[in-house]
Amino acid sequence: MKSITSLVAVAAIFLAGGAVAQTPAVAPVSPAGGTTFVQVGRLLADPANGSVQRDKTLVIEGGRVVEVRDGFVGEGQVVDLRDSFVLPGLIDSHVHLTGQQNPNGRLEEVTQSNAEQAMVGARYARRTLMAGFTTVADLGGSNEAVFALRDAIRRGDVPGPRVIASGQSVSIHGGHGDINGFREDVMHLLSPESVCSGPEDCMRAVRLQVRSGADIIKITATGGVLSNTAAGLGQQFSEAELAAIVEAGHRMGRQVTAHAHGADGINSFLRAGGDSIEHGTYLDAESIRLMRREGVYLVPTLMAGDYVARIASGPDNFFTPAQTAKAMQAGPLMLAMAGRAHDGGVRIAFGTDSGVSAHGDNAGEFALLVRAGLTPLEAVQTATVNAAAHLKIDGEAGRIAPGMPADLIAVAGDPLSDVTELERVRLVMKGGVVYRAE
Ligand SMILES: [Zn+2]
Repeated sequence: MKSITSLVAVAAIFLAGGAVAQTPAVAPVSPAGGTTFVQVGRLLADPANGSVQRDKTLVIEGGRVVEVRDGFVGEGQVVDLRDSFVLPGLIDSHVHLTGQQNPNGRLEEVTQSNAEQAMVGARYARRTLMAGFTTVADLGGSNEAVFALRDAIRRGDVPGPRVIASGQSVSIHGGHGDINGFREDVMHLLSPESVCSGPEDCMRAVRLQVRSGADIIKITATGGVLSNTAAGLGQQFSEAELAAIVEAGHRMGRQVTAHAHGADGINSFLRAGGDSIEHGTYLDAESIRLMRREGVYLVPTLMAGDYVARIASGPDNFFTPAQTAKAMQAGPLMLAMAGRAHDGGVRIAFGTDSGVSAHGDNAGEFALLVRAGLTPLEAVQTATVNAAAHLKIDGEAGRIAPGMPADLIAVAGDPLSDVTELERVRLVMKGGVVYRAE
């Protein structure tokens, strides 16, 4: 970096207690009413059009971009990114911040309090932000832990991405999302309130999620790989239950997204008016037709497929037999699925299912999307403009433009020629505050 001193100087202004630039702030201080000038060598402001502009200055006030000027201008608080490639802060549409797969996962299910999960979530939220993700959708975790974490980040108590949270997923009794594989009295205690049977009961579950603070409703339309039950990966809710869930969610202004592997569950959910599909492992020609007709987004979570297949077939497999069988079956299919969807013209939004794979590794999804057949620009679009449209936040994220929050990242090389550049983020700014600078 050319003028590292001016960058470090600015970082010191933003980072609490004058922390050194390499040590991300615990509680970053916002610039007090000042103007910040971010001088950018190469700028991909709007990934929708893919145009890369040269030598621009972003003028930032009150946490938002107010102007994009030609050339390098400004004095005072100047962030020097003249030798960097700058793009909008990234969006991950599918994470689970309050946990991460590990050999003790089943023990943690019965030992960790919600408060402890929130604390663990603070660690992973910070890691996610440092990896360049300034917005995430958290699709499943205990209501208390996830909503508290979301709100703490919003208040500035802990560093992390903006969080759109579903809290607990709405699931059938005994299905993916319920508690499985423990002794009966333990399961009675731990089965979440969002588990339901029958259309009326599932409306209740959706309404309770909204009352508890859900921004979005997540359901498990089919079985899932990591539930400890040999109940397959096919449809789990009835058609009547799916219709009730979608109606209840929409009536309260919430979009409804479905974890779905089997084509039966994917297609039934889409016919019921569901808004988006997570995973999509066995999607078929009918799924593609329905998704295109409704403009539905697919969140392919290729890192999750890659991770479960590697663990299940590796020497240190810690999955139960039920999990292992499903992981071996579904994991290896996901890359081809994303290729099929992309070829079929389905809209794709970026999502990793991090918490399955490690938090902070999120950008590894880009290389998998390119392997599935997307161009690097298309892969970048999934994590910016597409994810913003999918999550209905396109006025607040996904582009760098006057009026938008100043959420941006910088990398050294051109991610449109080598998408793995996004795995090496050197600067992260969220809401005009520098959280990472090196
Ligand atoms: Zn998930």
